[in-house]
Parts: sequence; structure tokens; C-alpha cells
Amino acid sequence: MDQDVVERLKNFSLTSEEKEEVALEERDILKSKAECVRSLEDKKRVLTGKTWTFDNQFLLLREWSEKLADNEEAFNSVEIWVQIWNLPFHWVSMETGRKIGNKFPRILDVDIPDAGTTKGRYIRILAEINLQKPLLRGTNIKLNSETHWLDFKYENMQNFCFYCGLIGHLEKGCNTRRDDLRNNDIKDGQFGDWLRAHEVTPSRQFNRSPKTPGGT
Ligand SMILES: [Zn+2]
Repeated sequence: MDQDVVERLKNFSLTSEEKEEVALEERDILKSKAECVRSLEDKKRVLTGKTWTFDNQFLLLREWSEKLADNEEAFNSVEIWVQIWNLPFHWVSMETGRKIGNKFPRILDVDIPDAGTTKGRYIRILAEINLQKPLLRGTNIKLNSETHWLDFKYENMQNFCFYCGLIGHLEKGCNTRRDDLRNNDIKDGQFGDWLRAHEVTPSRQFNRSPKTPGGT
């Protein structure tokens, strides 16, 4: 109760009518209780369920706390499913996925789609992507003396820069490109649409399938 209400009540002399309590029963608040639980579930679903997008951009949602404003890291990352291609068929394993996942700040899930495609099998990892760094285009992987280059492809990818590889702006608005142009040091072809995943993977029940707000 607010302090001023408490103070005011101290000076009240209540009439018998005012003193008489309004008696509530559990069933009177069943609906509002359920609504509270539902809104808590909604909040949980919104904050942890999926990567939200709006107008070709990732929409970063974080639970508010007093320290959030001081936490510069809070809005520096987004979770994206990354597909890993070009693995030799017999190297495709959950453990391989986890080890490749070490290239990212954090991984939340590893998935091996059951059905291969015409281009072979791949692993997907749900990875935290650092928005301050260019997208990783792939990595080398080695077993004994055998080495392969793996391609990374990003599912449900929103706007990113084909020049510098950062998420959140397009090439025409790229400061790095503008500086390189001024210095006569353009380096085209480093990033491109080929980083988008075009194979759509049916998500498992517990997967955080990317979705747009308002979608079904
Ligand atoms: Zn750029």
C-alpha cells in the first residue's frame, strides 16, 4: 500500500459500513490469476522463444532491469541458426557441431536434419552472433591430415552488409566502404547473398524457429 494511503488511514475513524469487509473467494480471482500466468508465459515466449524480425531487421528484445541501460553487451548479439555445409558425410555428428560452435560466442542448440538434401547433409547450430563483428563465412576443419573448408549459411537472415559483413545496414550505407572508397582501397566480393541459407529446415518441436511478430 502506498505510504500516503497508510498515513491517511491512521486518521480515519471508520463507520461500521466501511469496516465491513468485502469477502472474496478464490473463484472470484481465477480468471485474473490465469491472465497473469498467461502474460508471464507470453513474456517468456517473446523473450526466449525465437528471434524476432521487423522490416528486414533483427528486433532485439531484452527483459528490462535497472542495470540494462549500463549493459552495453545486452544489445550486441542475436541468435541465429547457422547451417554448416561441406562436411564429409561421416564427419556429421553432434560433437562436430558443438566443436564448430566454439567459433561463436555461445551456442544454444545443435541439430542434424534427418533428411539430407541433393547437396548433401549439414549440421545446424543455434548460435549467438556478435553484431559488432563481420559474419563468419566459414572455417577450416581438420581430422588427422585431412582438412576441409566449411561454408556457414545463415537462416532467416535479415539485412546485412555485402561489403563489410556486419548485420544491420546495407552496402549503400556502409561507412567502411565509404572510407575505403576515399582511400582507393575497395575490397569487393568479401560477403554476399551466398551467406543466406536457402535450404529451409523443418524445425523440431522445441526448436526456436524464426518468426515475424504478428505471424502465426
Ligand atoms: Zn558495411
